[in-house]
Amino acid sequence: MHADHQPGGTGCPAWCTGFHDPTETEDGSHRSTPWPVAVIERRAGGEGPYDRIAATELAVGVEVRWGETWVWITPEDDVRRGLVLTRESAQRLIRALDGIFDEVTLGH
Ligand SMILES: [Zn+2]
Repeated sequence: MHADHQPGGTGCPAWCTGFHDPTETEDGSHRSTPWPVAVIERRAGGEGPYDRIAATELAVGVEVRWGETWVWITPEDDVRRGLVLTRESAQRLIRALDGIFDEVTLGH
């Protein structure tokens, strides 16, 4: 629950830390606290044709909206590059990465 939550708000799960406008009735969106993940990534826009390497942080979290669970994966410094996937899609992504890492010999 969150300080902005109305006491007795309808259907707000315990993990929700999203803002709810107290002047509105149920807005149908519940958000978890963002989970920070420090990452190193390759980005376009380096010198000449080369990518550059950047350290950033991803915020990952869960939102329930429109009766669906959404998983967001968003670079802290550029929300426009974020992904918002259904839970099933995120689980497929996890399985795909697991499969790739099992299959590909990374050499170290
Ligand atoms: Zn909520």
